[in-house]
Amino acid sequence: MMNETSQLIVQQLFDYLNASPTATHATANACHLLEEKGFLPLDEGEPWNLKPEKGYYVQRNQSALLAFRLGNDNSQYIANQGFKIITAHTDSPAPKLKMHGAAMVAGQLRVPVEIYGGLIHGSWLDRPLSMAGRVACSNAETGQLSLRRIDLRQPIAVIPNLAIHLGRDINRSNEYNPQQHLAAVFGQATSEALLLQICHAAQCGLGDLLDMDLFLYDSQPATRCGIDGDLISSPRLDNLSSCHAALTALLQASPADSIQVMFLADNEEVGSRSAQGAQSSFLRTTLERITSCMKGTSEDVFRALAHSAIVSVDSAHGLHPNYPEKHDSGYAPLLNHGIVIKSNASLNYSSNAATAAAFRNLCKCHQIPVQDFINRSDMPCGSTIGPTCSALLGVPGVDIGTPLLAMHSCRELGGVDDHVSLIRALAAFYGSR
Ligand code: ZN
Repeated sequence: MMNETSQLIVQQLFDYLNASPTATHATANACHLLEEKGFLPLDEGEPWNLKPEKGYYVQRNQSALLAFRLGNDNSQYIANQGFKIITAHTDSPAPKLKMHGAAMVAGQLRVPVEIYGGLIHGSWLDRPLSMAGRVACSNAETGQLSLRRIDLRQPIAVIPNLAIHLGRDINRSNEYNPQQHLAAVFGQATSEALLLQICHAAQCGLGDLLDMDLFLYDSQPATRCGIDGDLISSPRLDNLSSCHAALTALLQASPADSIQVMFLADNEEVGSRSAQGAQSSFLRTTLERITSCMKGTSEDVFRALAHSAIVSVDSAHGLHPNYPEKHDSGYAPLLNHGIVIKSNASLNYSSNAATAAAFRNLCKCHQIPVQDFINRSDMPCGSTIGPTCSALLGVPGVDIGTPLLAMHSCRELGGVDDHVSLIRALAAFYGSR
């Protein structure tokens, strides 16, 4: 049975997951939670006036977020203690709508999609889907542009499978052509009716609508399952569960000597190559700027980075009961058996013996269970933003995460205990010396 703390944490996780169908929503909701706890917003285009022991956050593209809490006001502290950095990513794989292709086909409004990230095609079919994202509008009078986040919140589309009677080998081939077979069906309404719904959600006129980034998402909320309710079935566990854990740890932590930094990057699922992705200048320039705002010199930046550490959090592959052969038996993490430390000889993960040992030791001190993952040597390995952040800053990192099944499915499966452990470990990292 779950204790009250776990129940509360799971409810908060579900609230965050359900309210965050896209990276922009995940970022806005994180900002909201930070603001509730006294963190102050910063704008990259405005001067920064930072105060010791205060928390701040800054966004890029409304889809990536950097939050930090300062320690002591002496720049020597920054130089000597450095930054404690936790990274995760706000984006998840999803079908992205190609609205110009909307057409009535077989009496149904059909909108083609392109695929954002490496999603499992079949998992998106025959589900009630909703739509969310960002819309660009112009003001009818002033001509000024504005970006509006929208979430239709209702099941408005389905990607239907072909009946088995019409495709007898569907269970064998399991292949869907994304252009042809993954287009979404919106019922008998016209494309204008769909655009009007979008405008209604964005509170703009049809003639003011200029552009949009809209994604489909599973309209069914996150839920616990399993006889003891110890499993979590939800969309976007990769990687909003890590964002939620990092956020909760930062909000729980008290000011320490070092500066606590949380970087929630966008576009990990498509290679991180954007102004708001892990390959951008966002993390490095923000750390330099914090140091200079605290009256530190460029020498202090170098010294601070030399005293810094990164914990990169992203979901890990748990051992699948139906596919045990997909793991190396010595490195096969189990759901609800602890946080996974991920390593890879080709450095698809940033962990090495030194950084993994430091994290393992931290967990040992706080009695938090850990497990290890190394890919089967005859299979290609996934990756995450840990190595990129580590390389761009010259700061050692460790890649960790909670184990999931069905990663990149429309709904993924995780464990309650692992999420609770992750929050405890990240809070311990922020508080550690
Ligand atoms: Zn991920």
